[in-house]
Amino acid sequence: MAETSEVVIIGGGLVGLSIAYHLAERGVRRVVVLEREAMWARGSSARSAGGVRLEFSHPSSIQFSQYGLAMFQNFEDLFGISASFNPCGYLFITREPQRWDAMKELASMQRTLGVPVETLAPDELHARYSYIHMPDVVGATFCGQDGVADPGAVAYGWMRRAQALGVEIRLNARVTEIAQSGGRVIGVVTQDGAVIHAPVVINAAGPQARFVGALAGLDLPVFPYRRSVYVTDAFSGLPSEIPMTLEFENTSYIRREGRSILMGMSDPLEPSSDNVDTDQASLEKLVGTVLSWVPALEQASIMRGWAGLYEVSPDDTAIIGEAESLSGFFYAVGFSGHGFMHSPAAGRVVAELVTGAAPFVDLAPFALERFRYQTTHETFVI
Ligand SMILES: Cc1cc2nc3c(=O)[nH]c(=O)nc-3n(C[C@H](O)[C@H](O)[C@H](O)COP(=O)(O)OP(=O)(O)OC[C@H]3O[C@@H](n4cnc5c(N)ncnc54)[C@H](O)[C@@H]3O)c2cc1C
Repeated sequence: MAETSEVVIIGGGLVGLSIAYHLAERGVRRVVVLEREAMWARGSSARSAGGVRLEFSHPSSIQFSQYGLAMFQNFEDLFGISASFNPCGYLFITREPQRWDAMKELASMQRTLGVPVETLAPDELHARYSYIHMPDVVGATFCGQDGVADPGAVAYGWMRRAQALGVEIRLNARVTEIAQSGGRVIGVVTQDGAVIHAPVVINAAGPQARFVGALAGLDLPVFPYRRSVYVTDAFSGLPSEIPMTLEFENTSYIRREGRSILMGMSDPLEPSSDNVDTDQASLEKLVGTVLSWVPALEQASIMRGWAGLYEVSPDDTAIIGEAESLSGFFYAVGFSGHGFMHSPAAGRVVAELVTGAAPFVDLAPFALERFRYQTTHETFVI
């Protein structure tokens, strides 16, 4: 027998759970989250490095981060479980003069929005962070409000609160059809043939967002790319506290993970795929790159690693809104590696859109329609 719901959310990752919580908090009670796996938040959300930072190229992205940061800082008071936010700061380093000019310009814009970003000349950088060996560095930015939080705890906190407010989270429920009539969405069908009628359906399917969009006849340009992360054994050869430290040109980064060091890198030569295996070649590339600027890590041993999927849009910025061609079909997708830090605000703005409230942030930079005339690109991306 067909069921009826007010809202169906496709995807039980951080973004879907945040939307569910924010909707329920606004009084929308009949919300069902459909997750194809046997467990919620097992996709990209389970593989995140947990980074949270305020430095972005668009004011709207910065406001997204500010909302998320405040929520993570107060997560225990709000949800009864700590998000383990560690304000270790973010340090972005560049060797390219042109990029450095752009970073300084963006730092001015970021400061006007209250982001306490510092610009560091090479001698200041090396004096403050002596573990960095980069003779050709041209500059760096540091923001001490940024840090790292625990995505698993955040997902759990939202899931528990959403359920307490009446949201149903249904597992093993892959959506295979999105039903529509007269230009409106009217519900979904799952793999076991269950039909759920609903006037609002939300695509929060992470790296699978394009496939789910296609079920509604919509082309959402979101492509999965593998990203690998490795963790060393307990390592005392670096200071016990270091910022999330990222070098732009090779897109590699390191941070503390307890007494260990966590490191990652994006490989621009790797094509889009669903591959989430780690392999020796990517490990060797990462280690070689990181050792070139943090030579002390030569003494560390890799203990474990994992890979997951970034869900990448053409300009590395999320795509959020309601389909022009299908009323009632919303999407919050394409977070391009920022989906943990932006999931709180994504949940809030989608809940605002669905309930007819004005979004707290200008959503123009996230509009799907921007790709018709796109000219800008997020520059703070690793
Ligand atoms: C290695 C790595 C490091 C990262 N580091 C950071 C970081 O430091 N900071 C940061 O902000 N972000 C980071 N990210 C990105 C972040 O993890 C993602 O942007 C975020 O988790 C996306 O959440 P999501 O809910 O959209 O996707 P997911 O967690 O993938 O959730 C989507 C869900 O949809 C489900 N689904 C798909 N299709 C269907 C269907 N047809 N029916 C039902 N369910 C379906 C999937 O099973 C999945 O559970 C990182 C990602 C990776 C891989």
